[in-house]
Amino acid sequence: MNNTETGSDALLFEYSDGEMRGYCPHCNVYLCVEVDNEEIIEALDRGESVTIVYESCRACKGLIVLIDRKRKELQKEVIYPKHSVWEALPSEVPLVYQREYYQAVGTLRPSPKASASLIRGLLALVLHQHYQINHGNLAREVKDLISRSDIPSYIQDDLDRFRRMGNLAAHPVVDGDTGNLVEVEPWEASWLLGMMWAFLDFSFVQPAKQKERGERLDEKAGLSEKLGKERKK
Ligand SMILES: [Zn+2]
Repeated sequence: MNNTETGSDALLFEYSDGEMRGYCPHCNVYLCVEVDNEEIIEALDRGESVTIVYESCRACKGLIVLIDRKRKELQKEVIYPKHSVWEALPSEVPLVYQREYYQAVGTLRPSPKASASLIRGLLALVLHQHYQINHGNLAREVKDLISRSDIPSYIQDDLDRFRRMGNLAAHPVVDGDTGNLVEVEPWEASWLLGMMWAFLDFSFVQPAKQKERGERLDEKAGLSEKLGKERKK
């Protein structure tokens, strides 16, 4: 299930060759639309060139506005609508995890089961690769992580709920005895997406932001130290 080489189709939004491709944040339908070049606005954000692209979804006619900060080749940030049936991941989340997440987004509507199964696989992947917790039983691995003192209570809470979802945490979504898929309700699958978003944010985005804040402060402190020395001369 953890096919990480699924290609860019699995990603949220691609904007290239004047075309916008991805899952509509309003209706979750996959769309591929040509964007009129005249609708591209080039602007500067603290010296960094950004492009703003907008188009409406062919299925629901909802407006989608993307901002392209040119940091990553593929992923663009949706700045409108602010709230969607799923939430876009910040670029700090490694691409390998983003692919799985957006695949789960894409399967949410046609198959909540498949979506839940992908999220389960993604959670296992993050626990194994990022947290080095790996003993072949997801429910136990989750319990291990929850017991760590550096995990905030809102993440512990979410993961504990996941663990208590029983079927999903203890077994793969495919039932071992019958080979059938264990039932997953649509609301359960969207709850899982939300849980995963928060977990990825905590694991990758917040540490990166904290590091950046620290570096900015160090830079400023270094500068004021230098200025202080010069004043003493
Ligand atoms: Zn739409």
